[in-house]
Amino acid sequence: MIDAPQHAGLASVLDYSSEQSLEPGALVRVPLGRREVAGIVWRGLAARRDSGVTLRGVTEVLEAITPLGPRWMALVEFAASYYQRAIGEVALAALPAELRRLSAAQLAARVRRAQRAPESGPKAVAPDIALAPEAVATVRPLLTDEQTRALAAIDEAAQQPHAAPLLLHGVTGSGKTEVYLQASERALARGRQVLMLVPEINLTPQLLARVAQRFPARRVVAMHSALTPAQRLQSWLVAHAGMADIVLGTRLAVFASLPRLGLVVVDEEHDASYKQQEGARYSARDLAIYRGHLEHVPVVLGSATPSLETWQHARSGRYRRLALDQRIAGATLPRVQLFDMGTLPRAPGQALPALAPPVLDALRERVAAGQQCLVFLNRRGYAPVLHCPDCGWKSDCPHCSAWRVFHKFDRTLRCHHCGLSEPVPRACPSCGNLDIQPIGRGTEKLAEQLAAELPQARIARLDADAARGRGALEQTLGAMHAGEVDILVGTQMVTKGHDFRRITLVVAVNPDSALFSSDFRAGERQFALLMQAAGRAGRDAAQASNSRMWVQTWHPQHALFAALRRHDYALFAERLLGERQAAGLPPFAHLALLRADARDAAIAGRFLREAATLAATLQEADGVIVYPPVPLPIARVADVERMQMVAESASRARLQRFLAAWTPHLQALRAQSKGLARWAIDVDPLAI
Ligand code: ADP
Ligand code: ZN
Ligand code: ZN
Repeated sequence: MIDAPQHAGLASVLDYSSEQSLEPGALVRVPLGRREVAGIVWRGLAARRDSGVTLRGVTEVLEAITPLGPRWMALVEFAASYYQRAIGEVALAALPAELRRLSAAQLAARVRRAQRAPESGPKAVAPDIALAPEAVATVRPLLTDEQTRALAAIDEAAQQPHAAPLLLHGVTGSGKTEVYLQASERALARGRQVLMLVPEINLTPQLLARVAQRFPARRVVAMHSALTPAQRLQSWLVAHAGMADIVLGTRLAVFASLPRLGLVVVDEEHDASYKQQEGARYSARDLAIYRGHLEHVPVVLGSATPSLETWQHARSGRYRRLALDQRIAGATLPRVQLFDMGTLPRAPGQALPALAPPVLDALRERVAAGQQCLVFLNRRGYAPVLHCPDCGWKSDCPHCSAWRVFHKFDRTLRCHHCGLSEPVPRACPSCGNLDIQPIGRGTEKLAEQLAAELPQARIARLDADAARGRGALEQTLGAMHAGEVDILVGTQMVTKGHDFRRITLVVAVNPDSALFSSDFRAGERQFALLMQAAGRAGRDAAQASNSRMWVQTWHPQHALFAALRRHDYALFAERLLGERQAAGLPPFAHLALLRADARDAAIAGRFLREAATLAATLQEADGVIVYPPVPLPIARVADVERMQMVAESASRARLQRFLAAWTPHLQALRAQSKGLARWAIDVDPLAI
């Protein structure tokens, strides 16, 4: 088994000869063309001796590494078949890059190094993490009744071979993480390993610290893409050897080789970053569920705002719901107030202020009282577009169907899709007018305006631009925790998982665009985001009763806000599920996307139409609807036109049968499609 992607048109199972008898799961290096590549001896492939072909020999066996286990191989096989990729591609992509690069001798040295005992404590996990000292509890607190019941249910699941997955549904600050920690403690006591998945490790360095401090005598390793190749290899080796007790990682960690796995936790299970958007487009959350089933270990999905897929499973009884309805220590959720932007007096020709007067007053009050505020606007940069009032020129990107965003701090126009960045022109490129103007507002402008309105406040900004520099993110989070920041302005980055203790006011500046999006999941995502944002306020019980969230909206009557005001996830979920059922959308239907990219939209469109024609000839297409091709919402990126086509079925199994029959035809079709840049199947797509 070698890494030969299906799309390359080469089957990934190749035969090689070896003098030694090789165990399934063994890692080898083999020749492929003129190259030498890493491979895995796959199981179930009978030795073929007398085929008459001379096989090339295995170059070397990576003997320092014990063979990968049968359950790991079964997980890879499932992922490959479910997401329509080659086994070799999925298997090799699941291994650290260094493992594929190094020779047997080099690897043996790395294995020896990894086996040496690590320095103890959190330093062994990640060197530069921002800590909130007051939030790190080394001793374990006495659980609340709700937590005790949840822990007991996880214990019970650990005793059964086929327990239902568990949904730990708890409002923000209700003590979910504490439940993960104590469930982990019990799994460790049983001699097992724990896999803890988180959406974005860099945004929650606290969790890493909390885990490491809770288990000072255990080996905790991190697995995510921000590690160096050497660190990633080390984490992988330690996990594979069974020496890591806890693996804390992002979606790629779902494939970690863990011979003693005893518990899987998926924190913030609704988060979109669990879905891989390249190559095998897997959902780490869904694979975690499958892995738990394969390995007979409990899987705990935690969220304050579960995905509707998970919620529907909990409603139907396929998952067991464990509720944490109360915040710890009687803390309450913030009171949500809506500001109707339609009531702002508007002078003709004048732009509306970024923040409504009562919202500004609230910010001013909190800052004066020494409390912290969070201002959330999901758009980075200074202004989303520049325009010329004389001739109507706009700062569009020459390579994408999108505007270039004005970034004031370095005076650039940047395309957030292809990355093109140029200095802002002094004058309108089309008519020479010197007075070109920004339209709209991003976080950079908002922070600037806030600084002008509240000169006494210490304001920091957190978004993909501000977090780009090395250590910048940690520094901002650290300053926030240390109370050196009064107002933190940012994109959705600020809403995720942080346990900021002193925030008493959260402001959502413009959450309306998602209300009318063409993506059927936009409302679900926006609601989750706002609930998360609300959850940043009042985490300290002493301050909680006085905490607020202000939402500035043009649509205060929208049902989303009614549910938000009541912090009622279930109410909104029921409503959305009703709509989805009526419209025949997930989770009541199952979708796959066929994507095609080409310089010329006609080529991408033709590939998809021919694919649809092929689909119609397949017997397996029974019960599957293939919709006509459409361009993506942003059709052109980096001069590539992107089209897609939806296949839908009420039955997951039928859709799977259909995809399995369709994919080989698509490979053949691709070979005939001149000018097609790439194609891909996305099973259970998140964005449509
Ligand atoms: P969540 O993960 O649901 O946001 P956490 O587990 O982070 O909640 O808990 C919120 C805060 O309450 C944390 O500071 C945590 O240490 C504390 N905490 C959790 N459970 C308890 C408990 N049973 N008793 C006291 N404090 C607790
Ligand atoms: Zn002009
Ligand atoms: Zn662009």
